[in-house]
Amino acid sequence: MRKLAVDVVVIGGGSTGVGVVRDVAMRGYSAVLLERADLAQGTSGRFHGLLHSGGRYVVSDPGSATECAEENVIVTRIHADAVEPTGGYFVTAPGDDPEFADKFLAGAAATGVPAREISVAEALRNEPRLNPGILRAVEVQDGTVDGWQMTWGAARSAMEYGAKVLTYHKVTKIDRADGRVSAVHCVDLKDGEDVRIECTFVLNCAGPWAGQVAAMADCHPVDVIPGRGIMIAMNHRLVNRVINRLIYPADGDILVPVHTVSIIGTTDVKVENPDDLAIEPVEVQEMLDAGEILIPGFRKSRALHAWAGARPLIKDSRVSSSDTRHMSRGMAVIDHHERDGLDGMLTIGGGKLTTYRLMAEHIVDEMCRKLGETRACRTASEIVPGSENQKNYVVTHRLHDREEDRLEDQIICECELMSRQMFVKAWDDQPQATFDDIRRQLRLGMGPCQGGFCSMRATGVALETKHIDIERATGLLRLFLKNRWIGLWPILYGDQVRQTALDNWIFNGTLDIDHLPAPEEEVKL
Ligand SMILES: Cc1cc2nc3c(=O)[nH]c(=O)nc-3n(C[C@H](O)[C@H](O)[C@H](O)COP(=O)(O)OP(=O)(O)OC[C@H]3O[C@@H](n4cnc5c(N)ncnc54)[C@H](O)[C@@H]3O)c2cc1C
Repeated sequence: MRKLAVDVVVIGGGSTGVGVVRDVAMRGYSAVLLERADLAQGTSGRFHGLLHSGGRYVVSDPGSATECAEENVIVTRIHADAVEPTGGYFVTAPGDDPEFADKFLAGAAATGVPAREISVAEALRNEPRLNPGILRAVEVQDGTVDGWQMTWGAARSAMEYGAKVLTYHKVTKIDRADGRVSAVHCVDLKDGEDVRIECTFVLNCAGPWAGQVAAMADCHPVDVIPGRGIMIAMNHRLVNRVINRLIYPADGDILVPVHTVSIIGTTDVKVENPDDLAIEPVEVQEMLDAGEILIPGFRKSRALHAWAGARPLIKDSRVSSSDTRHMSRGMAVIDHHERDGLDGMLTIGGGKLTTYRLMAEHIVDEMCRKLGETRACRTASEIVPGSENQKNYVVTHRLHDREEDRLEDQIICECELMSRQMFVKAWDDQPQATFDDIRRQLRLGMGPCQGGFCSMRATGVALETKHIDIERATGLLRLFLKNRWIGLWPILYGDQVRQTALDNWIFNGTLDIDHLPAPEEEVKL
């Protein structure tokens, strides 16, 4: 058994946990973050990609609206490389109540969310694919954010301040002694070794799994209710701004341009188990219909991938526990001393990816208060590594880089312009990675061919770098394709069926990957 000792153990490597470990380390505590998978493999990698302006909540949830508006400005600055400040429109679609726009503008003024009504002609001029029947349009400061890029930026910052970030470490038990937390047990999923970490404080940031983690310390049930939502990526940037419907929040009312694609979403259904998020065919149809309302002809574009995430919502006494759509998106810190007689442990839930930094500030302030210490939060003013040049992401940045080195560097993934050098560097930095880990950082296989051509090239290059042998290479390729398939089968229609049939033939026919030399046990992580 490996043993460690730190001041603070942070559980969960989504945006919240990574924000928390960064804040803890910047305030001078020794800290370790434990994540059972890769960083942002939970909700923070399965979200809609919207950096909220706050507009969505100005009528339904004013507190969250103000938090989003303030954090939008901070996140755009400190994570410049992860944020594209696209701007956004809220539009009244045909059949929607035009008077809602007046409530919206009043709510925006009251909550400090910048918003300005523009003419329908201006909206259509700037977004020509928009439904020409829209009745009103309001401009807001929505943006798009790459959750993986943002989370890694915060993690690198935390590591610079001395924090340890242990991915693929699953927490199994939390020890208590004399009414205090004393240690956290986890297992290293890569080599099976048990690890025990002595600590003074535990910060539970396990998102929709926070209730499961609290139970490991024998706490009373924590009311984190997973609200499942599905999203579908379409193969074009159909719009260049975030397009929201100007209605009370509902299913399928936002279209977000993320990198080279557009994402329609989402639904909101209470589920029992955040690890079981099957996508129902009826929800896919609902999303495609919702897309048609905003962009006539939406169904004619190619649906590339569907996925689902679970919102870590805190039970709200004002609404029924099955009505996750209307629960507040506000954050909540749970003090286990008050409710469970356990010192040294706090749990956080709710919030948004947009407000991750503020969530971290709140829980770490509370921890400092409990420890009787005053250490100021500095996360809002310090830029994370990778964003030092203060240039926000633009969708053409890889094309620009490509034009600089196109004679020297081979392209591995054409859809996402991922070059050989980018891949080799990531692989050198993380020789234990899976292709999915690399995908989250470099967007390998996320474009229209969904890994059809790039995944085998990546496998070849990985072999050449000699970090892996032929058996592991085959295992990693098969795992990658299996995971891509999970998001493909629910949306197989039109041209994507032809693309998938071609990919399938390449892998199962020409390459016959099921019969290549493979590890005795299938690679699973
Ligand atoms: C469908 C949908 C769309 C959304 N869209 C947006 C949006 O556009 N903009 C926005 O701002 N917000 C959005 N959100 C909200 C946002 O994604 C979440 O609030 C945020 O990502 C939650 O982050 P988290 O770190 O709290 O949880 P998570 O990202 O889920 O992180 C929790 C982590 O804990 C880990 N964990 C669990 N158990 C253990 C264990 N035993 N040991 C170690 N680790 C463990 C998990 O693997 C996971 O990585 C959306 C949410 C959903 C569901």
